[in-house]
Amino acid sequence: MGSCGTHQGTECWCNTRPDCLSALNVVGAYVLTLYADVVVILFCLVWRVWYGVFAYVFLAASALAIWAHLKTMLTDPGSVPADAQPLGGEGTSDLGYCAKCNAYKPRSAYHCSKCRRCVVRMDHHCPYTNNCVGAKNQKHMILFLVYCVAQALFAIALCGYYCFESHGFQSYPWPQRVFAVLLAVDGMLTLAFTGNMTRRQITSVVTGVGTIDRLKLAKGKTIAGGNPLPLSAVFGNGTVMLWWVPIDPDFGDPPDAILGYRSPSYVSVKAAAAAAASSGEIAEANAHLPLLAKS
Ligand SMILES: [Zn+2]
Ligand SMILES: [Zn+2]
Repeated sequence: MGSCGTHQGTECWCNTRPDCLSALNVVGAYVLTLYADVVVILFCLVWRVWYGVFAYVFLAASALAIWAHLKTMLTDPGSVPADAQPLGGEGTSDLGYCAKCNAYKPRSAYHCSKCRRCVVRMDHHCPYTNNCVGAKNQKHMILFLVYCVAQALFAIALCGYYCFESHGFQSYPWPQRVFAVLLAVDGMLTLAFTGNMTRRQITSVVTGVGTIDRLKLAKGKTIAGGNPLPLSAVFGNGTVMLWWVPIDPDFGDPPDAILGYRSPSYVSVKAAAAAAASSGEIAEANAHLPLLAKS
């Protein structure tokens, strides 16, 4: 199969058919972030009117935000494979079926028309990341939002501090004043967007009721979830230190309990690593055969 896409077996998960709004939103998010980076670099490291250390802290938050954004955008959010089966203990009344995927649909999954897949614990399809937010990338989404909020607050604080500092902002030539004011506006815009999204994601985890679930409840419909999520179901079983790094969460091997289905074609991570190691040993042994034959 290979290639980029949202089909089963894709090597690079990516919604290759974004609508215009999604493409604009993604580009807009990067413009806001990169503008802030450039202005902070200019003030701290080029013009040297702000402390240089602020640039390193700001750029670290920015790098983490971009890393988390890319991971949210390019990680399979929890697409259900065609051979998914109910977990052993699940009653027949809980059996779901998706006519579009022609496959089993776990209780927490919704079918996304934009990704064209059923996604486990789908929160919503996010136009700012051109991807669904689901069980496997919700950690990345939350980290992206947290680092954006931190960056926005830092930008506003920097502008505020230097605006009121004596001999600071007032002494700047007008181009620097424009850059600083636009940085503050950039921070406020980012805070307005990501602050609200952060609140919604935290609510989703704390209540176990995702964005789509909330919309369904508002319409008087019933939902499958509704139980608060353990943090390990979002951030994985690794140490708390790793929760802050946008790497894929460890949901166990196999991750059936978190995903809510079992897949006969699932290859255990340990078994795959052992197979790769043994094939490497065989390849290494084969590489030495000609030498052995000559000696
Ligand atoms: Zn489906
Ligand atoms: Zn989607």
